[in-house]
Amino acid sequence: MLQLIPLLVALQPTPPLAAEAMAAVSAERAKASVVTLASFGTRHTLSETESDTRGTGAARRWLLGQLKEAGVDAHLETFDAPPMQRLPEGAQIVNVVGVIPGSMPEAADRRYYVVGHYDTINADRMDATGDAPGANDDASGTAVVLECARALVGRNLESTIVFLCTGAEEQGLVGARFHAEAARGRGENISGVLSNDIVGDPSPLLTIPADPRGDDWVSQSATNMVRVFSEGIPRNATAAELATIRQLGTESDSASRQLARYVLTIAMKEDAPVKPLVIFRQDRFLRGGDHSAFNDSGFAAIRFSTPAEDYSRQHQNVTEKDGKPYGDVPEFVDGEYVANVARLNVAALVHLANAPRAPRDVRMITAELTTSTTVRWSPSPEPDVVGYDLVWRPTTSWQWEGSKDCGDVREFTVPISKDNFIFGVRAYDKDGYRSPVAVAGAAPK
Ligand SMILES: [Zn+2]
Repeated sequence: MLQLIPLLVALQPTPPLAAEAMAAVSAERAKASVVTLASFGTRHTLSETESDTRGTGAARRWLLGQLKEAGVDAHLETFDAPPMQRLPEGAQIVNVVGVIPGSMPEAADRRYYVVGHYDTINADRMDATGDAPGANDDASGTAVVLECARALVGRNLESTIVFLCTGAEEQGLVGARFHAEAARGRGENISGVLSNDIVGDPSPLLTIPADPRGDDWVSQSATNMVRVFSEGIPRNATAAELATIRQLGTESDSASRQLARYVLTIAMKEDAPVKPLVIFRQDRFLRGGDHSAFNDSGFAAIRFSTPAEDYSRQHQNVTEKDGKPYGDVPEFVDGEYVANVARLNVAALVHLANAPRAPRDVRMITAELTTSTTVRWSPSPEPDVVGYDLVWRPTTSWQWEGSKDCGDVREFTVPISKDNFIFGVRAYDKDGYRSPVAVAGAAPK
């Protein structure tokens, strides 16, 4: 893949915690979670809630039990959704929420999420009684959430990790939207959201140009990759923020995009068994998912999805036509692939949780015209911070290319022009954990 270029960033050694947590993820358990979730027949938002064997109620009670069994503090989050297009009479929506509180007082307010939606649909979005096994969409992402919980519990994580299985994604991101807006209302600091949606079936071949300059196509297996989608211009940007983005040329530097770059960096550093195929688009073409509900509330959020999709399986009734099977059934979900996506999530969460927060007030100093560039920033508050890296890339480049370890300073000058590069700063701690990059704005001092 063109995008998997060698990276200069964050290859310094860090403790073996991420590798240990990745090794604790189980492919057998991940597949068993998918099989169990599909066994509830349907998890449609308007399906049965009383039965212990069928419907959305049974599914969420099982998920709650799994998080508790893993040792995570978990609860059901319930709210009444008003009537809307895909819920014409309104509905009670239930999310399953688990939390591992952060161990460092200065870092525990930062919350990092791993998300999957447990609801499903078949070919008829409003069919609440017919089978809708939703093995790939999205028992697979829900299984990633469970595996992350099982792999991370009991480990030293400085920031707070939240495990969120959302309801009613298929009815309009309803559960995620409620959760994100409520968190914003409480003033919570959601610093990064990893939404896993359709991460179970890597078998559809990915077709790409054989040579980027030509019109020959090749279709290839991409079982060692997962697409990572991120918004460029924030969905909730104000008019003033949009004006700044236009003026500074930072159309590809939202916090969500920095998070996507960060996940790629960590995947390379920890040699995750699946690598991000980074797509600079908020989601698949004209389609959506739970991460966008978090974006709408102003939080950095990205989506993981298989390299290619098979539409004969997704949102289909389980049937056979002309000898070809239809429907989103567990047979098409690869437990090892689900586990590998979970390992990538686990690695990213360990680094996000244990790194300092990104520096604040990062700005290029513009008091006078200079051909060099001076960048200033406010320190990250964690007591184990020992330094900062200045990073940069040409305006046409998609990934940070240059970095300079500045040490424990608040300002640094490089002899290259701010006309021609985008700059950012990240913090690192005594263990070598590095924060995502905070991109530089502009200020007179
Ligand atoms: Zn989905």
